[in-house]
Amino acid sequence: MPLGLYIHVPFCRTRCHFCAFYLHIHREDKAQAFVEALLCEMRLHALRNSLEGRRIETLYFGGGTPTTLSPDQLCRIVEQGRRCFGLADHAEISLEAHPDSVTEETLQRLVQAGFNRISFGMQSSDETELVQVGRPSSAAQIGRAVSLARAAGFSDINLDLIYGLPGQTLDSWTATLDEALALEPTHLSCYALTVEARTRLAIDLRRGDRTEPDAELQNAMEDEAASRLTDAGFQRYEISNYCRPGYACRHNLLYWQGGDYLGLGPSAQSYLAGCRFGNVEDLDAYRQALTEDRLPILETERLSPEQQRREAVVFGLRLLDGVVFRVAETGEPDSDWDLRVTRLAERGLIEERAGRIKLTDLGRRHADSVAVELL
Ligand code: SF4
Repeated sequence: MPLGLYIHVPFCRTRCHFCAFYLHIHREDKAQAFVEALLCEMRLHALRNSLEGRRIETLYFGGGTPTTLSPDQLCRIVEQGRRCFGLADHAEISLEAHPDSVTEETLQRLVQAGFNRISFGMQSSDETELVQVGRPSSAAQIGRAVSLARAAGFSDINLDLIYGLPGQTLDSWTATLDEALALEPTHLSCYALTVEARTRLAIDLRRGDRTEPDAELQNAMEDEAASRLTDAGFQRYEISNYCRPGYACRHNLLYWQGGDYLGLGPSAQSYLAGCRFGNVEDLDAYRQALTEDRLPILETERLSPEQQRREAVVFGLRLLDGVVFRVAETGEPDSDWDLRVTRLAERGLIEERAGRIKLTDLGRRHADSVAVELL
């Protein structure tokens, strides 16, 4: 099973109104201190042999906006990863980027450092929709960023899109899909907008300044994305993810296939050898722990073999191919699990075929509640 390394960069230039991630508005002094702490965290894990000598197959920079860090800072982190853990030949090295935060020079430096996949937060091609959620940008800016990335040598380019934005219509969503396809990405992620507590969007909704995303409209938008992208030659391989053949995101596949990963940075989560653990969220507490040569781990939970198998099934169900249906270690039927699966099948949410279970079309709409019932 491949092993992944996730780096959480907790900085953005501004906060989008729908975003509930842990992050700070970027400041150079904070970013520099964060990078030093992160390099220290990698060194401590290497000293403890947390990865037991296994090399990294996928390295993913998320956040936040990783490209708020300078190319020098990003390259130092990759180099430290190589030094501390070793990167497999042909490792996928991926980063999320805001289209406005990259230049020709930045992108060339990243390719030279080994980055081979980039994911731009496009969200929408409609400037009014973007302004409404505090994320001013334009279709021209995303087009420019994609061209620069391709010219710099990135051949694997993802665009993140959101549907259900305030004021968005089925027509404007269709236009966004068409604009995204015209940029010829290798991968597209289409996420339904959800309203998270304590976000600016949630406050606006309470005040009546915005309207709640309409569930039926979002379903229609999801269907439109599925049919338009499939017609354009993309494979839907996960509920929200589409790729050209051969371009599935290896790092995200690792999560859905129950693989091991080490997460570094404030609030990052890890799963290694049946043990789940997470870092403190607060940036100062994170740095303080590392200043004292302590790992900033807040909570650790060891999963029983059965919990591990159940989780693997639940995550695997997000994949369109579904997952091998095997829970009891002994191979004996697990009556409680069987009963839950049977009930979900009777409600038309999952289907079982040739030893695999998968979500039905209806089940994909209710994937979160299916997961809750199975865990
Ligand atoms: S760019 Fe991404 S991480 Fe940053 S505020 Fe917006 S949604 Fe959140």
